[in-house]
Amino acid sequence: MPIYEFKCLSCGRRFEKLCSLGETGENLACPQCGSAGPRRVMSGFAPRSAGKDGFGGSGSMGGSGCGGCTSTNCGSCGH
Ligand SMILES: [Zn+2]
Repeated sequence: MPIYEFKCLSCGRRFEKLCSLGETGENLACPQCGSAGPRRVMSGFAPRSAGKDGFGGSGSMGGSGCGGCTSTNCGSCGH
């Protein structure tokens, strides 16, 4: 069974709960204030800002190569 993350709409408390697939949270209650119907939030799927479409431009990756070569030694491409 998956672990879903929920957020209480009343007090804002976030909590994780192991529940059956497709659980929407309607039947759950906030562990802090007891308010029913917490909202399910998705976690772990946040898009990374440093995707393959951006090379950063300023070499913020710290010696992991540049956009022009695959080597960690950019002296080979004059970068
Ligand atoms: Zn709450």
